[in-house]
Amino acid sequence: MNNVSSCYNYDSMTGLGDRSAFFQDVRYHIELDAHVHIIVVQLSHLAHINRRYGVQVGDQLIRVISEYLKELDEEYTAYRIGNSRLVLMGGECTQHKAEEFVEGIHKRFQKDWRVSYREKEYAILSSACLLHLFLDPRDTENDLLDKINYTISMVPSHEEDNVIFFDEAINADMQRKRYVLEEVRYAIENKTFQMYYQPIYDCQKERFDSAESLIRLFGRDGSFISPGEFIPMAEINGLIDDISWIVLEKVCEFLGHYPDLPLSAVSVNMTGKQILNPGFVRRIEEHLENYHTDGGRLRIEITERIITEDFEKVKKVMEYLSRKGIHFYLDDFGTGYSNISSMLSLPFEVIKFDQSLVKTMNSSDKGLRTIGLLADIMHENDCVVVAEGVETEQQAKTAQERRLDRIQGYYFARPMPEKELIQFLEEKRGLRWI
Ligand code: C2E
Ligand code: CA
Ligand code: CA
Repeated sequence: MNNVSSCYNYDSMTGLGDRSAFFQDVRYHIELDAHVHIIVVQLSHLAHINRRYGVQVGDQLIRVISEYLKELDEEYTAYRIGNSRLVLMGGECTQHKAEEFVEGIHKRFQKDWRVSYREKEYAILSSACLLHLFLDPRDTENDLLDKINYTISMVPSHEEDNVIFFDEAINADMQRKRYVLEEVRYAIENKTFQMYYQPIYDCQKERFDSAESLIRLFGRDGSFISPGEFIPMAEINGLIDDISWIVLEKVCEFLGHYPDLPLSAVSVNMTGKQILNPGFVRRIEEHLENYHTDGGRLRIEITERIITEDFEKVKKVMEYLSRKGIHFYLDDFGTGYSNISSMLSLPFEVIKFDQSLVKTMNSSDKGLRTIGLLADIMHENDCVVVAEGVETEQQAKTAQERRLDRIQGYYFARPMPEKELIQFLEEKRGLRWI
C-alpha cells in the first residue's frame, strides 16, 4: 500500500513513517470509513539487547526488523511510532487472512535476526508482542491509542512473545477499567468513598474489641465497585495516596465522633510506600488533632509486599512511628514469600493470618499443626494473632483451640457502615460467641 499523504514525517533512524505520519494515515482511513488491519509490533527486550550488545547494535536490529516489515507485503505500510514500537497498517482483509498474516510475522520472530555492525555479525533473537486489530472508523485517534496502550500494558512479562487480537472481551475489559477509574477520580474529588467496619472478636476478652476499616465505592449509578478491583488500579495510576488520606481522615473523624466506642482499636489499610513518605506522621497527627481523636486507638495494616521491597527503610520508619505510639499490623500473612525471622524483627503488634492459611486448618492435620506452630512463634515474639476470613463455626472453634487470639470473618460479621457497627456492638455487648 502506498503512503496515503504527500506531507509526511519520517523516523530518522529507520526511514519509516513516524507516529504523526501513522495518525495522519489513520485519519485518512477513518474519513474513508475503511476497515483496515493494524498490527502493532512491540519489541519486548530491547533494553536487555542494548545492555548486552550496545545501543548501536540495538539500533541496527530495529533497522533490520523495520526493513523486514516494510518489505513484507505491498498492501501494508510500516511505521515506527515509539522507540520499541513498530506498526503495519493496510490490507482490508478477512479476520482469518489477518490471523494467518500475523502468525507469519510471529514465526519470523522465533528466529534470529542477522545484524551487522562495524564489520561484526550478530545473530539476535528478539521477542515481540504482536497486537492486531481492525481500525474501527467510529474510533478517534485517542480511542485507537488507548486500545493499543491498554492491551500492551496488560501483557504479563511471561507472555511478551505472543499474538493478541483486540477482541470484544478486551474491549469490554478496557471499558470497565475506564469506567472504574472515572468513578475513582470522581470519588476522590468529591470524597464520596464510604468506610465500612468489620468487627473482630477477641477470644480472651470474649467480645468484639477491635475492627478493621474497609473502603467502599459506589458508582454514580449506584453499583458497587469492590476494593479488590479498584485499589490495584488506583495503585497503578498513582491515586492510592489520595485515597489513603481520605480513608485516614474518615476513620479519624469516626473515632472523634464516637469517643466512647467500645473498641480498643480500629485499623486502616495502607500501602507500605505511604509510611515511607516524609510527611506521614505529621499528616496523621493533623487528622487526629482536627477530629480530637486519640491516636492510641488507631492501627495501621501493611502487607509483606512492601517489607520485601524496602526492608531496612521500612524497619527504621516503623521503629520511629512505634515510638510515637503508631502501631502496626502485618496483613495477609501467608500470602507472600518474606522470611519469618526478618519480619519478626519489625515491631508488629498483630499478625493477621490470611484466609488461605486459615482454610488449611480444617483441610488437613498438617495444616492444623502448622497453624499452631506459627501461632506459637508469633506469641513468643509478643505478637497477637488474628485469623482472617473465618466463615464457619468449625473454623472459629479450631482457631480458638489453636490459640489464635482474635477472629475476623463473615461467621461473626460482615463489614458494615458506621451506624450499623454501633448498633451491632450495642447488641452483642457481653455476649460470648464461642
Ligand atoms: P484485606 O485488607 O485483606 O481485607 C479483608 C477482606 O476480606 C475484605 O474485603 C473483607 O470484606 C473480606 N472478608 C472479611 N471476612 C471475610 C470472610 O469471612 N470471607 C471472605 N471471603 N472474605 C472476608 P474487601 O473489603 O473487599 O477488601 C479487599 C481488599 O481491598 C482488602 O483486603 C485490602 O487489601 C483492600 N482495601 C480495602 N479497604 C482499603 C483501604 O481503605 N485502603 C487500602 N489501601 N486498601 C483497602
Ligand atoms: Ca487488611
Ligand atoms: Ca487481609
